[in-house]
Amino acid sequence: MKKEIWDFGIVGQGLAGTVLHAYLERAGYRTCVWDPGGVSCSAISSGILNPLTGRKYVKSWLFDDLLAEAKSFYPRMERELATRFFYERPIFRALPDRRAENEWDYRSSLPDYLPYAGGEVSKDMMPDGLRSSVPYISILQGHQLRINRLLEAYRKDLRGKHAIFTEKWNYDALKKDGEYWNYKGVLCRRIVFCEGAAALKNPFLKGLPFNLSKGEAMVVRAPAELSAVVKRRIFSVPWEKGQWWLGAANFWNYDHGQPTDLGQERIMSAYQQMYSGAVAPVIENYAAIKPTVRDRKPLLGQVEPGLFVFNGMGTKGASLTPYFARHFVSHLRTGEPLRGEVDVKSRMHR
Ligand SMILES: Cc1cc2nc3c(=O)[nH]c(=O)nc-3n(C[C@H](O)[C@H](O)[C@H](O)COP(=O)(O)OP(=O)(O)OC[C@H]3O[C@@H](n4cnc5c(N)ncnc54)[C@H](O)[C@@H]3O)c2cc1C
Repeated sequence: MKKEIWDFGIVGQGLAGTVLHAYLERAGYRTCVWDPGGVSCSAISSGILNPLTGRKYVKSWLFDDLLAEAKSFYPRMERELATRFFYERPIFRALPDRRAENEWDYRSSLPDYLPYAGGEVSKDMMPDGLRSSVPYISILQGHQLRINRLLEAYRKDLRGKHAIFTEKWNYDALKKDGEYWNYKGVLCRRIVFCEGAAALKNPFLKGLPFNLSKGEAMVVRAPAELSAVVKRRIFSVPWEKGQWWLGAANFWNYDHGQPTDLGQERIMSAYQQMYSGAVAPVIENYAAIKPTVRDRKPLLGQVEPGLFVFNGMGTKGASLTPYFARHFVSHLRTGEPLRGEVDVKSRMHR
């Protein structure tokens, strides 16, 4: 690769680094990326954009705006990369008890929930084998981003443009060189760190309010056709042809980032509560550490002159990333202030 001057260098090509790269290039900034490749949190994620979440079916923070940006960004990327990875999918969610039913009745009657609140799911719409001991309702405007497909296609494109270095950053090698940052002879005006949970190893990001968590999932041979996402204690999600993604089991305390017996058993027992019939054969076991943040808001902004962070997408990277990449690039380009909730300036404790 030629040694040349870049406007921006991005460290990390997970979902955050990839989407940010696209927005920077669109704004006219020549941008390169470092990433050694391998399994990332993004690569194993189910990538659901879920309008109504939690026990109270509350509309996700900023969801109307996040969805509008996602629906403009991802299809455009699909066209540019000639790869499909963004799908509209209703989310069938169980109402496991009377409290859930009451909560749903209340929420679904609120005017700004109307675009997302579907009715009860009829038997003929449910996948074969789904136990109908509890009712399911349909959440509309759910989407699925097949993140690993987006990342692979984008990486291929970056390779073609000689804009990716397939290596892991060694932070000690970064030097200031006049107005540039010099990383092993590559000169960048500005650097943005997008390493997901590995940000904890970055000496320039000390004091950010990360509160990492681990997610486990599995891919099984599909026991039936599945066109919607179905959620009871876990999500069952369409994956590759003939496969379902099941998950997640989440842990705040963990010893390592690999799948565990406990996590996989938890998923399988939730699956058996949802579906009758033979146990689906497991094809793969997944685990990754998520870049979750104490106040659940992304982390954006400058950490030192010329050094920036774009991280903290937590459990909602698929919906948060395009909107906040646009916001961040607009801030970099015009000086427009960052939203207070996401700006690292007031959230960094050193
Ligand atoms: C089981 C599970 C299910 C999930 N489900 C959903 C979901 O349904 N919907 C949703 O929106 N989100 C979901 N998420 C969360 C989502 O995956 C994350 O929000 C998102 O992937 C975070 O992307 P990221 O780019 O910040 O981090 P990562 O994907 O971790 O990417 C970081 C990248 O940085 C690179 N890197 C790290 N250190 C260095 C270094 N020193 N030098 C160079 N490169 C480096 C890594 O190789 C990696 O490619 C899920 C996560 C898990 C684990």
